[in-house]
Amino acid sequence: MLGKKRIRVGIIGLGIIGSRVAGHLRDAGFSVPVWNRTPKPEPNFLGSPAEVAEVSDIIQLFVADPQAVFEVLEALAPALTARHIVVCSSTIGRPAVLEAAKRVQALGARFLDAPFTGTKGAAERGQLVYYIGGDEATFQAARPVLEVPSKAIVQIGEIGQAALVKVLTNVIGAANIQVLVETLAVLKAEGLAPEIMVKALEHHGVRSGMTDLKLPKLLSGDYDPHFSLKHMLKDVQFGLDMGAELQLDLPVTQATAEAMRQGMSAGWADLDFSVIMKRYDPQETPESHP
Ligand code: NAP
Repeated sequence: MLGKKRIRVGIIGLGIIGSRVAGHLRDAGFSVPVWNRTPKPEPNFLGSPAEVAEVSDIIQLFVADPQAVFEVLEALAPALTARHIVVCSSTIGRPAVLEAAKRVQALGARFLDAPFTGTKGAAERGQLVYYIGGDEATFQAARPVLEVPSKAIVQIGEIGQAALVKVLTNVIGAANIQVLVETLAVLKAEGLAPEIMVKALEHHGVRSGMTDLKLPKLLSGDYDPHFSLKHMLKDVQFGLDMGAELQLDLPVTQATAEAMRQGMSAGWADLDFSVIMKRYDPQETPESHP
């Protein structure tokens, strides 16, 4: 087994999260070759995913969605060997994770299902929480890399099961914000200051990490993306897909997705998913985003 700092970890996808994880790994003394579809002025930026694989043992993916993961895997394929572990930290849902694992394993490499929770601030502070699906030996081999930007690692089960649980937790988060936004709209329409909700929730059982995180931003109208609307809708749609497959009625998930689709039509895809609050701004009439 390689010593901790001798593990070479390639990071693919330098968006909100991947760029910050790469930074933590570098600071911790790892060798970190990186690649992003759009070139970025990052240290050790290489010309292709395959070049990253050639100088890595572990390759961790932080790209957006299933299409991005499959494109990257195709580009990695010529360089993947039994030495490699592909750690998939993109939220792509169970079916895509199972397909990605199949493709990686067919090339003789190992695969770890390792989505995470924690948004831009948590990534900055090295406080992500990883969910793990995969065998123990692969997890232990990747563990030194996963420990650096995280405060906890939760083993869920087999490959695909971490992806499934990750999607469900995001459905909870999305619905949580949807109902928070609705209640703030009612409060405002009743002529009360929305700030009252902060005081009202302070000692209330429904106060959560999510309300603490998003309520101040909702009150100030700060929709700088920590987790974009387009990605949250992707995840809620994975939840709906699961419900359809299992023939389960998911009315709250449906309504939450619909509100987010309206936000997408309004052109808010790249803003934080809490931007659905803007549906209640007086200047944002339903006609302005049919
Ligand atoms: P992001 O800032 O939107 O970055 C997305 C990354 O994916 C960018 O590097 C983008 O490259 C790359 N990408 C998109 N399409 C691609 C393609 N076809 N081929 C290659 N690369 C492609 O996203 P993020 O917020 O960092 O999230 C990354 C993943 O983590 C997503 O699956 C997301 O759901 C998940 N996640 C995010 C959070 C969060 O709070 N942000 C929390 C939990 C999970 P370009 O720069 O070229 O566009």
